[in-house]
Amino acid sequence: MADFDVIIIGGGPTGLAAAVYTGRALLKTLVLEKKFVGGQIALSAAIDNYPGFADGISGFDFAQNFLKHAQRFGAEVREGIGADKIMPEADGTFSIALSDGTIATSRAVILAMGRFPRTLNIPGEKKFEGKGVSWCATCDGAFFRNVPVAVVGGGNSAVEEGHFLTRYASEINNIHRRDHFTAQKILIEEYTHNEKVKPIWNSVVEEIIGEDEVEAIRVRDLQTDKTETIPVKAVFEFIGWIPNSDIAETLVDVDDQGRVLVNDLMETKVPGLFAAGDLCVRPVYQLANVVADGVQAAISVEKYLEANKH
Ligand SMILES: Cc1cc2nc3c(=O)[nH]c(=O)nc-3n(C[C@H](O)[C@H](O)[C@H](O)COP(=O)(O)OP(=O)(O)OC[C@H]3O[C@@H](n4cnc5c(N)ncnc54)[C@H](O)[C@@H]3O)c2cc1C
Repeated sequence: MADFDVIIIGGGPTGLAAAVYTGRALLKTLVLEKKFVGGQIALSAAIDNYPGFADGISGFDFAQNFLKHAQRFGAEVREGIGADKIMPEADGTFSIALSDGTIATSRAVILAMGRFPRTLNIPGEKKFEGKGVSWCATCDGAFFRNVPVAVVGGGNSAVEEGHFLTRYASEINNIHRRDHFTAQKILIEEYTHNEKVKPIWNSVVEEIIGEDEVEAIRVRDLQTDKTETIPVKAVFEFIGWIPNSDIAETLVDVDDQGRVLVNDLMETKVPGLFAAGDLCVRPVYQLANVVADGVQAAISVEKYLEANKH
């Protein structure tokens, strides 16, 4: 007999939302979280757009509330323990090799390992993470009204998110290492016709400068090798995302970026193996969406286990 009805890999918002539902459905639930609960949102200074929290909430408090909620319904959450390998067994159950050297078994698995943003790795970036350095315009754009900001990147994300920022910022300095944007034509046209947008081509950001808040960026022109300091209050980086799909890549279908492919029920192609949230190909990467994904995965697990009594 398996140790658990379901093992949820990842203790971010997706995994914890799933755990609230599987726990409440009286399924024996284990959540594995290799770092700290809350995932990406745990380090965010303020969440202002999660419905129902009219005064906003810090990422840390949000994560801790979520943890309590999952535990209240009996989910066991192992923080600091990762899943290293997923082994589907012949009888339809799963064995998971854990980072502490043990094995846990379950009747179903939800993959909720999320993703992480590519970063610039430059001085000042860590210092202002979540406080002026952002990877999400929808999340943080509204904090920077009528001030100049920087956008880094030139693909679809940079252009779409940069366009969103034109609602708030007084000026968008879009730094890109090439001499043109590589986004869809229609997006580029909309974006570059906005007078707030100032593309800075063939250039890279070398430093984010500021005492208590972001004050400026130092930018190097790759053709002339000259540097200039541009005053900005925030830096939005859109140079790509890396899904944490490595442990699942040989089992499930992934797209060319490594994002897991699921259907509307959060099913992968392996019976009993579900995936949800930022790890997957999704139309939107926001808390409300990933929580809904987690809930759907949990309900799908419930139905799957009802139909498969192994
Ligand atoms: C700076 C920032 C601010 C944001 N602000 C907002 C906002 O204001 N509003 C909003 O709606 N959205 C916001 N978002 C987006 C939101 O945080 C994400 O959509 C959400 O966190 C995704 O949840 P997830 O659980 O799918 O993935 P993640 O949050 O990425 O969580 C995945 C978890 O899985 C763990 N994990 C990975 N691999 C393993 C493994 N092998 N074993 C065990 N554990 C593993 C990771 O450590 C991580 O904790 C923000 C994102 C960022 C980066």
